[in-house]
Amino acid sequence: MFRGLARAAAQRHRVPWARGSGGRAGIPAHVVDLRSDTVTRPGPAMRRAMAEADVGDDDYGEDPTVRELQEKAAELLGVGQTLFVPTNTMANLISVMGHCRRHGSQLLLGQECHLHVYEQGGTAQVAGVHSHPLPDLPHGTLDLAELEKVLRRSQGSSYHPVCELICLENTHSSSGGRVLPLDYLGQVRLLARNYGVRVHLDGARLMNAAVALGVPPSSIVQYCDSVSLCFSKGLGAPVGALVGGPKDFIEEAWRLRKALGGGMRQAGVLAAAALVGLTDAEERLGQDHRNAQRFAKGLRELASPFCSVDPSTVETNMVMVRVAGLRPEELCRRLQAVSAEEEAQLGRGVRVLLFPWTEYSVRAVWHRDVSAQDTELALRKWELVLKQLGRP
Ligand SMILES: *Cc1c(COP(=O)(O)O)cnc(C)c1O
Repeated sequence: MFRGLARAAAQRHRVPWARGSGGRAGIPAHVVDLRSDTVTRPGPAMRRAMAEADVGDDDYGEDPTVRELQEKAAELLGVGQTLFVPTNTMANLISVMGHCRRHGSQLLLGQECHLHVYEQGGTAQVAGVHSHPLPDLPHGTLDLAELEKVLRRSQGSSYHPVCELICLENTHSSSGGRVLPLDYLGQVRLLARNYGVRVHLDGARLMNAAVALGVPPSSIVQYCDSVSLCFSKGLGAPVGALVGGPKDFIEEAWRLRKALGGGMRQAGVLAAAALVGLTDAEERLGQDHRNAQRFAKGLRELASPFCSVDPSTVETNMVMVRVAGLRPEELCRRLQAVSAEEEAQLGRGVRVLLFPWTEYSVRAVWHRDVSAQDTELALRKWELVLKQLGRP
């Protein structure tokens, strides 16, 4: 359902945006792209680092920039070792394959989590692992009693699949970038230990969680047996992710990456971008979170019957807006179109790009390519659209 909505919106967005078409007055419209934090383009510093990266054949372990990234990341995450991989999807799949050594073993995870919904069921089609999805609570957590029920059932009976792994997601994307509380992570770890299963953390946006909590990422990762981290989201790199865990786990992960076709050669060109992304992560992600918070508060002040938002649920870089009285697709279409009225009022056309999230909500995501000024512009555009809607 979400995918259908997103695809329809993407098709609609593509035409005017790709052409970079101007407003009526001939001034190019200003684009504020809030569709995802994957849309960032590498800036001059990142491109320079990529161009100047020291490289070698990483398949022989000879790329100094990849090694530097892997070592720095291991320290940052507080794990024995890390491995650079092309995507977070591959990082998750490698982790599942590394933990679930028995064909047909069971994986427990949230039914809306990325690994379950958006990764082509790779855990089933490639890893031969059977997923048992549990309902996600509004904060992005799982019900611990429910989790224990499934673990107990799996352990006590030869009629049920053998459970080997629990996967968590932090920040939790489908709930709007919510941060998993540390005591919850501790409780999941305790349960996992009691039942002899391991915990993998899909930390595509782990750095957002760490910045929001004001803790080093290692104090989140300490509750997990492995972790993934994505460089092409808020960290702004064009490509790349990593898997982290104990040394022997990462040695096995190296073989699995090879099997999946993810072994790379002069990958230092990509690792250099990831290193730049990590360097200023704290400052940049903090700014994204403040912009998202500012937007949520500004939108609430507009007090429109068409859109509502609860700023207390905005913990990181995402804002979920509840839409009533019109279809989310229609709202997105209006926010993207340029009117003569806004050119008169704002001095130029502003295209705000967004995806409908469900039939009654849209999701806005902040990232490096959306400044505080862009956020104000987006709010003013939003205000104009809501005013137009409010007319009889
Ligand atoms: C984007 C994302 C992934 C996948 O990352 P890719 O690098 O696009 O494969 C996995 N998990 C979460 C939570 C994500 O947001």
